[in-house]
Amino acid sequence: MAGIRISGLSKFYGGKESGMAALRDLDLDIRDNQFVTLLGPSGCGKTTTLRLIAGYVTPDAGTIRVDDRIISSVEGVAPPDRRGMGMVFQNYAVWPHKTVFENVVFGLKLRKVPAAEARRKVEETLALVNLGGLEARLPNELSGGQQQRVALARSLVVEPGILLLDEPLSNLDAKLRERMRVELKQLQRRTGITFVYVTHDQSEALALSDQIAVMHGGRLQQFGTPDEVYRRPANKVVADFMGIVNFVPGELRSGPGGAPVLVVDGQELPAQIGAEFHAGDAVDLAVRPENVKLSRVREGADQLTAKVTEHTYLGNLSEYWLELASGAVLRAQTHPLEPFDVDDEVFVSIDAGECNVFHRTAAS
Ligand code: ADP
Ligand code: MG
Repeated sequence: MAGIRISGLSKFYGGKESGMAALRDLDLDIRDNQFVTLLGPSGCGKTTTLRLIAGYVTPDAGTIRVDDRIISSVEGVAPPDRRGMGMVFQNYAVWPHKTVFENVVFGLKLRKVPAAEARRKVEETLALVNLGGLEARLPNELSGGQQQRVALARSLVVEPGILLLDEPLSNLDAKLRERMRVELKQLQRRTGITFVYVTHDQSEALALSDQIAVMHGGRLQQFGTPDEVYRRPANKVVADFMGIVNFVPGELRSGPGGAPVLVVDGQELPAQIGAEFHAGDAVDLAVRPENVKLSRVREGADQLTAKVTEHTYLGNLSEYWLELASGAVLRAQTHPLEPFDVDDEVFVSIDAGECNVFHRTAAS
């Protein structure tokens, strides 16, 4: 129920002179009532960003506004308890010797909410996180998922406008993590609270978010919907982080009217090519495995030829490693019916409209 506007935000641990930026020049506009995820590998600055928003850390540059009020800048930081924010951590620190009720009512007691009203709010909140009826239990009488829900309830009971969550599901087993995903999404929708959620798990980010901020090396790489960051990654780092991707070498040749045309393995492919590309450029085509199709016989003029070098059965999918005529390797995932064998010669269709062209760089 509050938006967050971040401008030019930087944080250097050990002082600005150290040059060790945990976060560099972040601009991010988080709208009210959104589920926004900060996604990136370990050490990319996600927790630092969350701690800056929470007010535990002072920035070295930039500002954070909540509903147009500056709550953080180099000049100072509004105290964390004055920001209308709740925070949930990975290590859901619930008090082991207090009951569920006592754990959850804590923030209301601090705020001197009358007992009857506090009881009602605790009960409402516990119902919201599916813990109704468990008020009298101690944490060690609860499962890991239930304990994490207690931590959630403790943050929610004081009705924050913004909830900050730092990898809250990473201590749960895979099955429970998936169920809690759905519950968190529903919780955000039902409450209308702005969620800022941190994870290194791209599938979690895709499943939960309205918008994903992909971070790498202290810098924002892209801010967009799950579909945008998955299907139209801004650069190779994002393409690589969001899922399996092949970078297939290609070149741009001058086509009709001088517009560059993509050629891979001697074959023209109808990829979208941006205005920043020119004939003669060395490029990589970013191809997701699900956009590759195999056939035993030639089915179209723009198919490539390849040899199957590896086959992995994944139950719902078959994965193939292919070697193109040029020697480039291509990973493909297809329906497991009609399997191919290692050493089979196959025809390969790449859905070029779903692929993205990037400049080839020395590092890749
Ligand atoms: P993430 O949450 O994405 O894993 P962090 O925000 O925790 O990343 O860390 C970003 C970078 O800042 C890392 O290189 C980390 O080592 C460094 N860092 C984080 N906290 C501190 C700190 N208190 N003192 C010094 N360096 C830190
Ligand atoms: Mg972290």
